[in-house]
Amino acid sequence: MSEHQDDVVLYAVEDGIATITLNRPEYRNAQNLAMIYGIDGALKRAVLDDAVRVVVITGAGSVFSAGHDIGSPGRDVHVQYDSRAALWPEYTRAEAAEERYAREIEIYLEMCRRWRAASKPTIAMVNGPCIAGGLMIAWSCDLITASTSAYFADPVVQMGVPGVELFAHPWELGTRLAKEMLFTRGQVSAERAAAAGMVALVAEPDRLVEETRALAQRVARNDRFALALAKVAVNRAQDAMGYHVGIDSVFGLHQLAHSHNAEVAGHGNRGVGVDAIRASLQAESAAAAGNVDEGKE
Ligand code: ZN
Repeated sequence: MSEHQDDVVLYAVEDGIATITLNRPEYRNAQNLAMIYGIDGALKRAVLDDAVRVVVITGAGSVFSAGHDIGSPGRDVHVQYDSRAALWPEYTRAEAAEERYAREIEIYLEMCRRWRAASKPTIAMVNGPCIAGGLMIAWSCDLITASTSAYFADPVVQMGVPGVELFAHPWELGTRLAKEMLFTRGQVSAERAAAAGMVALVAEPDRLVEETRALAQRVARNDRFALALAKVAVNRAQDAMGYHVGIDSVFGLHQLAHSHNAEVAGHGNRGVGVDAIRASLQAESAAAAGNVDEGKE
């Protein structure tokens, strides 16, 4: 709560490339709402800045993002921010399924769609583990580069939900690898993600920034409007293939799972209650604190 959006997300522009840095390395860049709205604000700033041609999103420290904040001291899930992506009643004044739906459609689903639709090319530079909600940021970008130290994982099946709110897994990895990742809660290496077509390039950690910058510069050589139209063209093709329909359908399953968990276990994320998370976090060092994903309960 003491954190300010400007602190948890850094913004810099150099040679036409805007870099947005998730900046909670002490919590493995766990995404509190300040960070989510900070990313949104930084992305808008980049789109409106005529000097910016390409946007890179990366993480401070050795982790890209460990997912949504479920237990750090800066967890602010009870704070109502001004709605930017969805027009639903304020989640802080709603209850039960309505509360979860209103919150998750604003800060997760529609926010990711808003980022995907940003008119300038975006590159997720995945500098380390990219877990659960971290996937949603990477998948909202046009291109993904990854360090050899990176991996991709969505272990939230252990919480009784089918996957993170933006269910793009089959689109990004193909159906077989998506099932393997979800069923096993396993780690998909950067190399394997590249082989699946999700990752554009894999670099050694000390080469990632340089190689991503070179990729961004190649993209930046093109006409701004032509690039924007190329982006819209590919996104529309994907939309026509059922991208949004599929994701909306699974968002309903995701909400069903939260409600089922609340009925049978008393909280929306079965087996991983906030009390249990807090207890384990208090026992760990701050460096290990950020942790993996998920909502309010
Ligand atoms: Zn959820």
